[in-house]
Amino acid sequence: MQKTLRYNFRLKPSPQQELKLVEFGSYARGLWNFLLSENQRQYEADKTFSFYNEMASKIKEIKKLPEFSWVKAFDSGAAQQVARDLDTALKNGTSKKSRQHFPKFKVSYRVKKQHNDSYRSVNNNNCIRVENGTITLPKVGAVPIVLHRKLVSSIKTATVQYRHGKWEVSLTQEVMCDEAKKVLKSIAGYDINSKQTVVGSNRLTVDNPKYLKQAKQKLTRLQRQLSRKKKGSARWKKTKSRLNNLHGSIARKRMDFAHKTAHRIANESDIVVFEDLNVAGMQKFNGRMIADNIMGLISDLAKYKIELRGGIHHEIGRFERTTGVCSHCGQHHRLTLKDRHFTCISCGTFSDRDYSSAIAVQRIGELNLMAGGIVARVSQSPSTQQKSGIKTKVFALVAKLSVGSEEKEKAA
Ligand SMILES: [Zn+2]
Repeated sequence: MQKTLRYNFRLKPSPQQELKLVEFGSYARGLWNFLLSENQRQYEADKTFSFYNEMASKIKEIKKLPEFSWVKAFDSGAAQQVARDLDTALKNGTSKKSRQHFPKFKVSYRVKKQHNDSYRSVNNNNCIRVENGTITLPKVGAVPIVLHRKLVSSIKTATVQYRHGKWEVSLTQEVMCDEAKKVLKSIAGYDINSKQTVVGSNRLTVDNPKYLKQAKQKLTRLQRQLSRKKKGSARWKKTKSRLNNLHGSIARKRMDFAHKTAHRIANESDIVVFEDLNVAGMQKFNGRMIADNIMGLISDLAKYKIELRGGIHHEIGRFERTTGVCSHCGQHHRLTLKDRHFTCISCGTFSDRDYSSAIAVQRIGELNLMAGGIVARVSQSPSTQQKSGIKTKVFALVAKLSVGSEEKEKAA
């Protein structure tokens, strides 16, 4: 099975190249807005939309017109990608199944006060390539790139964008997954507590780093400072750009932490179970603690990392009870946020709150996977268990997992 992974790299364009990238971003936005307005007009006339093929031929047509000479200057592959994206957005926006809104017009950076246009080029006939510390982009040329890691395979697409005051390119690459493991030797469930510590049923615990909390305090301070300044003034702009840079640094640190944690989790066991974290629901009783849903991100990242290794990632339903479940007998207890430990009213086992919920997550996941006919328990001879000293659970893969190969996963 193949997976499309995305890796982000920093770009260091020269001043001329930078102008070109800004220009291309605005072309992509202009083209999107033009195609969308054409579609709206068409819909008012005959209640139909033009989809990718019609839009692509329309792009070819307008290129000939003098007022659309800028489309000629734009990378033609990237122009088609705009049509592709609008096609998807129109289909999602009009389908009853999808909850996405109807596509909107894109606003220029002059209105938003900071530009974050982006455009996506496609690698046709090796027109995008990385060599000698540069990446060659169609109609832009060789732009210096910071290759903090090796490319895993050939590049499919390159998305250029300006974010948080820095240029970056996001390269999609196809990666082959390992064959699905027939024998799955370990299972672990993970939970996150109110202090943002990740706790595993295998006793793996990862604390949410302090620097994230510190940076967030700094963020609130800057936001307060900004609110006191006159919008659009020199001081306002200065604070705004500091705020923007801080947002960028927090986003990168958070991503880095999530990747490292997900990596450890994926290395630890063959089957990994998480809770499906409904952010909106969690926020209600936990306040802003869960607001940035780092566990959801860790679960997403762990998913592709585990699947690359041929293991199984499973999410249990958000309504399953996991807090206050005795890890010994399964008795439910009502706990307040303060209760860090509890003694089972049924069997008297003294349990750690976080550890017992991780166990509960694991158990529910195990039952789900077996009930769904995906795995089956394999009985191990007691002697092997005694030898290893630890009680391990072994499963055999029963069903073929249906994981979409076209699924796009995020990697940095
Ligand atoms: Zn009990």
